[in-house]
Amino acid sequence: MARKPIIRIIGSLNIDFVTLTPRVPGPGETLEAKSMTVHAGGKGSNQAVACGKAAYTSPTEQDVQVEMLGAVGAGDPYYASLLKPTLTKSGVDTRYVEEVEGVQTGTATIIVDEGSNGENRILFVPGANHHVDDLDKIISTTTQDGVPDVIVMQGEIPKPTVLGLLSTFNSDRHKTCVVFNPAPMFDTIPLSALKDLAVLVVNETECLLLFKAVQELRDIETPSEENLTPHLDRLTSHLHDLASISIVVVTLGSRGLYYSVASKPTRQQARGLIPAAKVAKVVDTTGAGDTFVGYLSTALARHVSKQGSLEGFDVQEASLRANEAAAKCVQRSGAMESIPFGYEI
Ligand code: ATP
Repeated sequence: MARKPIIRIIGSLNIDFVTLTPRVPGPGETLEAKSMTVHAGGKGSNQAVACGKAAYTSPTEQDVQVEMLGAVGAGDPYYASLLKPTLTKSGVDTRYVEEVEGVQTGTATIIVDEGSNGENRILFVPGANHHVDDLDKIISTTTQDGVPDVIVMQGEIPKPTVLGLLSTFNSDRHKTCVVFNPAPMFDTIPLSALKDLAVLVVNETECLLLFKAVQELRDIETPSEENLTPHLDRLTSHLHDLASISIVVVTLGSRGLYYSVASKPTRQQARGLIPAAKVAKVVDTTGAGDTFVGYLSTALARHVSKQGSLEGFDVQEASLRANEAAAKCVQRSGAMESIPFGYEI
C-alpha cells in the first residue's frame, strides 16, 4: 500500500490558563474574577490539531499522517491529561514530542477583560518550548524516517531553531515543502530567512513587517493595516523576486484572504482575493488563522506526495476550502475545539 502523505509540525506546545474578569486589577489590588479554565494551546499544537482534523475524510479515516515535534516538561499532568489526549483525538502522532526533565511545559496566562469587549492580555512563559534548540538533532529526526512532504513552522520556538530549519529545508536538497507562519510575530522578518520558501502565510499585522523588510531593499510604501489590499500585488511581486518565495498568502480576517503564486520556471504570477465565507454569527475568532494554515498545509501534503513537488498545486482551490473551514471555526467558541474536521467541510 502507498504511504500516506506526511506533515510534520515543528513548534510550540502550551497549556493555556484563561481567566475571565470584569476588569483588569490595578497594581497591588486583589479582584474577584469570574472563572478560570485550562485549555490545550500553543501555536504549534493548534496548527497540528488543524492539520490532523483537516486530514479526516470521514469520522474514522485520515488520509494524511500528521506528526508533532516539540517539547513539554517531563511528568506534566496537564500534558498527560489534556494536551496529549487532545492531539491524539485530533489524529496527531505525538511520538516526536520530547518530555524534558526539570522544566515546565510552556504556559500562556490569558486574561480576558470582559469590561473592554473581551480584550485579551497574554503572558507567555516558553518553558520547554525553549528546549527545542538542538538543530542537528531536529534535522536528523526529521530526515531519518523519510523526509515529510510538508513541514509547518511558526514563531513560538527559539528563533535560531526556526531560522536554521528554514535554511536547511528550503533548499532543494531535501524535497520537502515548508509552510511558515511567523506568528506570534517576530519583531522583524529577515528576507534572507525566507529564501526559497514554499509557502508563507501571514496575517495583516505580520504583513506590515514584510513591507518593512522589503522597504530596506526596494522603494515601496508601507500602507496602514486597514488599507493593505491595494498594495499586496506590489509587495508579493517583490517577495517572489527578492526571496524566491513560491506562494504568499495574507489572511485578512473578516475580509478573507489574498494569495499570490509565482511558478518557478516561468516566474509567472497568479494572484487573487477570496472574500471570507458569509457566517450567520461570529462567536470567537480564536484559531481561525491556525485552521486556515492547517487546511492549506494538508491540501499541499496531498499534492506533494502525489506530484513530488509544489509545481501545479492549486492554491486557489486549497485556499477556498481553508477559507470555508476557518469560517466554520469562527462560529464556535474555543481554539482547538472550534477547528472543524475535514468531513464537515
Ligand atoms: P488568529 O490569530 O485568531 O488565529 P489570524 O489573525 O491569524 O487569526 P485572520 O486573518 O484573522 O487570522 O483570519 C484567518 C482566516 O479566518 C481568514 O482569512 C478567513 O478565512 C477566516 N475568518 C476570520 N474572520 C472571519 C469572519 N469574521 N468571517 C468569516 N471568516 C473569517
